[in-house]
Amino acid sequence: MLSLSLVLSAAADTVPPAALDGPYLFYGEEGVVARWANTEEHTAEQQAYTAATATTLPHFTTFRPELVDLDRDFSPLPAKQYTGVSKIVALSDIHGQFETGRKLLLANGVIDRNNNWTFGTGHLVVVGDIFDRGDQVTETLWLIYNLQVQATAAGGMVHFLLGNHETMVLEGDDRYLNAKYRITTSLLGKFYHELYGPDTHLGRWLRSLPLAVEINGTVFIHGGLSREVVREVSDIGRINQLYHDYLIDAEDMNEVISESPRMNLLHGRLGPLWYRGYFSKNTFTERDLEYVLRKTSADRIVVGHTSFTAVQGFYNNRIIAVDSSIKFGSVGEVLILEDGAAYRGTITGQRIPLSTETTK
Ligand code: CA
Repeated sequence: MLSLSLVLSAAADTVPPAALDGPYLFYGEEGVVARWANTEEHTAEQQAYTAATATTLPHFTTFRPELVDLDRDFSPLPAKQYTGVSKIVALSDIHGQFETGRKLLLANGVIDRNNNWTFGTGHLVVVGDIFDRGDQVTETLWLIYNLQVQATAAGGMVHFLLGNHETMVLEGDDRYLNAKYRITTSLLGKFYHELYGPDTHLGRWLRSLPLAVEINGTVFIHGGLSREVVREVSDIGRINQLYHDYLIDAEDMNEVISESPRMNLLHGRLGPLWYRGYFSKNTFTERDLEYVLRKTSADRIVVGHTSFTAVQGFYNNRIIAVDSSIKFGSVGEVLILEDGAAYRGTITGQRIPLSTETTK
């Protein structure tokens, strides 16, 4: 045991795992090819990828070939409503801060030290924005991917909801990309969005993800549901469907948006991925909240996207903001919903009842 751990740590010292970026799995006519970059040594490698060759890949921080099914069906699933879920953990806006995200999941009983699912039949909700800003986006994506497979096998679920940074990447908007991924793209000779194109495994996965999910009467959605959107489309399953049918992989998204006022609304500042209105006194009132909850038949809405220093409740916890500024890389919290109660879960595993005082 001792010699094995010495060997492992020696190997880790020579090549920091975070320098190995990948693998990116591309489907082609000749089969699947795994490509990756060493962003410190400025080298790129590739090899044919099958279940057999997968085990010969170098060690990536979170990539687990035994959990990858190349033939997986990634058709978008209609949003389901889940009821009777015993426990829920939600977090958002990890923005490439893999270590902070991992610590939060570990401290709050979602994973063990080896990044395996330990949350049983509970549901984990990642309320968007794994991409951009930080330098461990790929590690975070593979972690959540793995947990989704393991959770499903355990009778739990992982819901990774699209955020505006997921759709920005799919659309080719790389303004917020960490410098590390400029090295990867240059070494692999690809644009960043091509690393997540429809011919890639993670790209297909991303294109199957919903914008919203409802669990135990709580709707989770990255930006929020505005009065304007709910007046136009009140069913979250329909919002997911419209988004996938008309915007994900649209030949020309700008054309779709300019020709359809409804899609323009869904993809705009009042749309579910960009909305910040709940936190602005001038644009949103208690009456608006009553309207939105009544139209969507929900009790509560949990959102990311707008950053706070902690998980925070508004309107007597009928709106809960879970973007706890993980993006800065040292802080963060998760929301825990269990037995009808709401808690802040800290990075040291402390549970703090979410204040029911109306913040505004
Ligand atoms: Ca966002």
